[in-house]
Amino acid sequence: MNIGILGAGLAGLSAAYELAKRGVTVQVYERSHHVGGNVRTRQVQGYLVEEGPATIALGEGTLKALIEELGLTEALIGQQPAAYKRYLLRKGRLRSVSPRNLLFSGKILPLAARWRLLHEPWVRTSPLAEEESLAHFVSRRLGPGCLPLADAFVSGIYAGDIHRLSVQQAFPRLAEMEQRHGSLFKAVRKLPRRQPHSFAAGMQTLPVRLAAQLPLPVRLDTPVAALDHTAAGQWQLLDTDGREIAVHDHVLVTTPLHSAPRLPLGHVYPKVTYAPVTLLALGYTREAVRHPLDGFGFLVPGDEASGLLGVQFISSIFPGRAPQSKVLLGCFVGGSRQPELAALPETELVSCIHRELSGLLGISALPELAHLVRYPAAIPQYNLGYVQVQGALDTLERQLPGLHFAGNYRHGVSVPDTVAGAIHWARGLQVS
Ligand SMILES: Cc1cc2nc3c(=O)[nH]c(=O)nc-3n(C[C@H](O)[C@H](O)[C@H](O)COP(=O)(O)OP(=O)(O)OC[C@H]3O[C@@H](n4cnc5c(N)ncnc54)[C@H](O)[C@@H]3O)c2cc1C
Repeated sequence: MNIGILGAGLAGLSAAYELAKRGVTVQVYERSHHVGGNVRTRQVQGYLVEEGPATIALGEGTLKALIEELGLTEALIGQQPAAYKRYLLRKGRLRSVSPRNLLFSGKILPLAARWRLLHEPWVRTSPLAEEESLAHFVSRRLGPGCLPLADAFVSGIYAGDIHRLSVQQAFPRLAEMEQRHGSLFKAVRKLPRRQPHSFAAGMQTLPVRLAAQLPLPVRLDTPVAALDHTAAGQWQLLDTDGREIAVHDHVLVTTPLHSAPRLPLGHVYPKVTYAPVTLLALGYTREAVRHPLDGFGFLVPGDEASGLLGVQFISSIFPGRAPQSKVLLGCFVGGSRQPELAALPETELVSCIHRELSGLLGISALPELAHLVRYPAAIPQYNLGYVQVQGALDTLERQLPGLHFAGNYRHGVSVPDTVAGAIHWARGLQVS
């Protein structure tokens, strides 16, 4: 049996690696000139810049086991103690977020919201069958006063809309916490701790190592434009001119659905909404920034007058990200909240973000590094009704035997979920 995998992002590479271990002949096809998909690290002017994810919340799961198996444990780095603090933009100022500040100070939540929050353990559990938006879930359990907090939290993961994201689909662990423990407060105390990690040489370490382990090298610069059946019931991969690239028994699609190859006549992909995000890496000399940058960064609720979704204090989180006496900030702009900002011309965007940061962090000089990466379709949104998207993909898999789907629109958007989903899929494939 042989299988063609479309897309050399983490989903495609993880699935390929797992299948190759099982003795399956596997060939990965990648449209671009590099492996890793969204995961990409660059050295720019002495800074180590992540053009996609900068951190992975590493627990005890599949991703950790994979990293060990790949011999990459030594290359892993955890967040520095200086990065434990989290900030939130509230009323135009950065506030440190801690249980104490949340409950006993009025700087983040007003008194009525704090009082309501304390009643969470006594809120009735919702019936299992009801799909709920995150906003509805948070209002019901924690009180409407906590919506700005939820909004900020979501801007850091989905860059999405809390009124549209489905708790059951986008945050299944949150829904499960309520069902299993009857209270988020009780459940949080039992949660395993997940610390942000990366690799000393950057996130690209992982896809590069995965690709290097494959018996057949990834075919780069090979966009697959269409899929068709052969008379023998195999899958034919076609290029943009309709020429055959290869034939496989099975095909795994891990490309985003909007760039996935056309399907045989009569079949279409379900529509998935993506939020646009622009990532701006800004480098400053340390002395130009008055703020101590003593934390992971800050998140921004949608009710603040801000052009930012959030900012990571990258050089405080991990060592080796900025040259000596310099600091590196990773700024996220756009999302479903302000998609038009993500599309601003580069000079306008840089000056707008620099101006805002100057006020918030006390910056007194221009950035010496400004590196911008645009993702017009960054993160798939598991909005209300997403269960129908998953159902439509299941139907395609049933109607078109040998065709399979994995990736961040299928098993969760985070790096650990994307990798785990692809590996579990590969383990479950019948290879006879
Ligand atoms: C800006 C940004 C920041 C993020 N930050 C974090 C973070 O801090 N932590 C975290 O856990 N997650 C983060 N994520 C999410 C995470 O990075 C992604 O969900 C995950 O990497 C997606 O992997 P994937 O393999 O599903 O898709 P992708 O990485 O999108 O890979 C798909 C691949 O398919 C290729 N392709 C597309 N069309 C074709 C075609 N027709 N033929 C062949 N190849 C094709 C693409 O070139 C690409 O290489 C972030 C995402 C973004 C965009």
